[in-house]
Amino acid sequence: MSSAAHRLEGVSRSWETLRDLSLVGGALDRASPRRREPGLLPVLLNDPLTRIVELVAGRVQVIESDGGCALFLRPPTTLDAKRLGVFLGQDGDGTAYLGVVGEVCDQAESSGTAPWRSLREVGVLLPGRDASLFAALQGLANWHAAHTHCPSCGAITEPDQGGWVRRCTQDLTEHYPRTDPAVIMAVTDAADRLLLARSPHWPPGRLSVLAGFVEPGESLEAAVAREVFEEVGVTVDEVRYLGNQPWPFPSSLMLGFTARTADPTLRLAGEEIAEALWVSRADLGEMVRAGRFRLSPIVSIARRMIEHWYGGPIDQR
Ligand SMILES: [Zn+2]
Repeated sequence: MSSAAHRLEGVSRSWETLRDLSLVGGALDRASPRRREPGLLPVLLNDPLTRIVELVAGRVQVIESDGGCALFLRPPTTLDAKRLGVFLGQDGDGTAYLGVVGEVCDQAESSGTAPWRSLREVGVLLPGRDASLFAALQGLANWHAAHTHCPSCGAITEPDQGGWVRRCTQDLTEHYPRTDPAVIMAVTDAADRLLLARSPHWPPGRLSVLAGFVEPGESLEAAVAREVFEEVGVTVDEVRYLGNQPWPFPSSLMLGFTARTADPTLRLAGEEIAEALWVSRADLGEMVRAGRFRLSPIVSIARRMIEHWYGGPIDQR
């Protein structure tokens, strides 16, 4: 194959978008106009048909079955009215879904013996609707916990509009949930090797593609190019969109891209990256087999981007 043909093949592959990512959901009607209904949460908490998802310290209860799982959904209890509640949406038949944020001390009062699991643990196993419910509840719970005071005047804020607004108790300003865009990029060189790197916070062997937050006034493509250059001193072009995934840890939206470089020379600067290396598909396969490479979790877009470049799933839990 000529180098030109190889290059074209690589480019056309990079234009495909990732499908079947975890947490992208869409199977739930968020019914956002209902958030403004007066007394929405008390009404739903008094309806035994309302389904409750309870979050305690980043975990919800699930019902596990062979190879899959589903959220454990229950009717409201009197305890739920004392907790932070968020209206998550409704089904076509009108069944409403309410998230409540409990304390660790409440856990013993919860019904059933269903195990408690984190979104990282079960996000890939849950059906689309359940994964969306969990991701929205986790993101909202994180936001409420971090925005107890008004950014304008410093007074206490209180939840409003079904848990989708916090309102200042002094100046009555409304504050909305935050989502922080972050770019994550599969960078390849002319030989179609993939750039992997290790954060200083990760143990040896844990490697992934580069990622970073989009800065104010910056386009997504510019953020990809800046982050790669800052972290490993490589200049990239051909930045192409690949897919996106909500990542509520605490409030990111991961925007995946591919990018190319003509010069793979690595120049690590600063303290953001402990090590970086280019791998061929054969290198990566060998590293996995030898137990020298710890992949990102299966639920993550990072893992899916690496597998997309690799050409198929990599067998590692
Ligand atoms: Zn205020």
